[in-house]
Amino acid sequence: MSAGIEAALRAAEERYAEANPRSAERISTAAGSMPGGNTRTGLHYSPFPVTFVGGQGQHLTDLDGHVYTDLLGEYSAGLYGHSHPAIIGAARKALDEGMAFGGPNTYDVEFADLLSARFPSVDLLRFTNSGTEANLMAIATAREVTGRGSVLVFQGGYHGSVLSFRGAAPLNVPYPLVVGSFNDVAGTVALLEQHGADLAAVVVEPVIGGGGVIPGTPEFLHALRDTTSRLGILLVFDEVMTSRLGPSGIQGRTGITPELTTFGKYLGGGFTFGAFGGARGIMERYDPGHPTTLGHPGTFNNNTITMAAGAAGLREVFTPEEAVALNERGDGLRDALNDVFADVGVAMQATGLGSLVGIHFQRGPIERPEQVRPADDERALLHLELIARGYYIARRGYLALSIALTPADLRGFVAAVRDVVAEHAALLRD
Ligand code: PLP
Repeated sequence: MSAGIEAALRAAEERYAEANPRSAERISTAAGSMPGGNTRTGLHYSPFPVTFVGGQGQHLTDLDGHVYTDLLGEYSAGLYGHSHPAIIGAARKALDEGMAFGGPNTYDVEFADLLSARFPSVDLLRFTNSGTEANLMAIATAREVTGRGSVLVFQGGYHGSVLSFRGAAPLNVPYPLVVGSFNDVAGTVALLEQHGADLAAVVVEPVIGGGGVIPGTPEFLHALRDTTSRLGILLVFDEVMTSRLGPSGIQGRTGITPELTTFGKYLGGGFTFGAFGGARGIMERYDPGHPTTLGHPGTFNNNTITMAAGAAGLREVFTPEEAVALNERGDGLRDALNDVFADVGVAMQATGLGSLVGIHFQRGPIERPEQVRPADDERALLHLELIARGYYIARRGYLALSIALTPADLRGFVAAVRDVVAEHAALLRD
């Protein structure tokens, strides 16, 4: 760590602690009942995270009364903003009708119809309660229908709490794994050929999210499709984040049809959500009338709040036109950030696609997660300095735009980034 960055970070941490006494107090009392005061590891950052008490539109309010413009968008689950009337109205209506029916309802079928109409790979689907669960189910399904045991994943990929391929992950499900390098066409094809007879599935984020917001190249994604088809391996697109990147996600953008797709995040309207779906010949195994039916109970799979809010979101708000417009705004933001970095002359760049953006502290192309410079102190400095200026992003430099953000919000954010980067330019040049 350079002494200059360290000193700047310590000063930013002191200012932050002074500005957020009630969040600091809350984290220490929360530690009495939750380990480290935390129940969601990704929300931890030093010296302590701010605690939120409210959200309206594109704004968040914390316990100490600060109001932020929210560029994090709940790690992509907050696409609709914090109080969209169509979402709130649908959820409220479902609440008013009563809950926990213990039987089918009318919202689940509507939501399932909307999803399968939107995503070309999905003939049939099943709801879960999280993206983690959706991926666990997709992998278990692939293992069952192929009769093979192993799964190919990519270094730096993230498919859920127990399916993490970023650093040590002792809690991962103990499936036999083959680990490839994202965007490495020749290396991945060679691995597939070598292990093909044992591989049930390839699971891939078509744009690696948590691993740095790095788009898969069309050549890479097509090579996965072609080779898995040739070798009888199921291709699973984890579109938990990327389904927002076009009217029909990355499968729509690339024309690639995976056998199975997993979903999560914003599609539940901001409520707990996951789904896995795909080809009829695979998913029909979940038909309770099928002679070799597969079980997939799950108390809250069709909870009415998520089903109603998710259906309203797709039907009324995140239309195909809105998907295009939001992603154009994201492309514009990424370009504007890269202009700032070039202009000020710092070794930084914004990566990603459409409404998902990653900020990195290095020059040169980033094609795979292994190439991402950790730059923990630089990331922490940027994060705290933006918080001090009223903008909320993830500590790791990740942004997911919501539809509530206005062009003026995005211009304000770019100006704040310019201000921070210019102030610390001497520390960020190399
Ligand atoms: N897959 C991807 C690509 C994700 O980004 C995430 C969450 O960040 C998951 C799966 C897991 O989803 P959940 O947190 O809903 O379990």
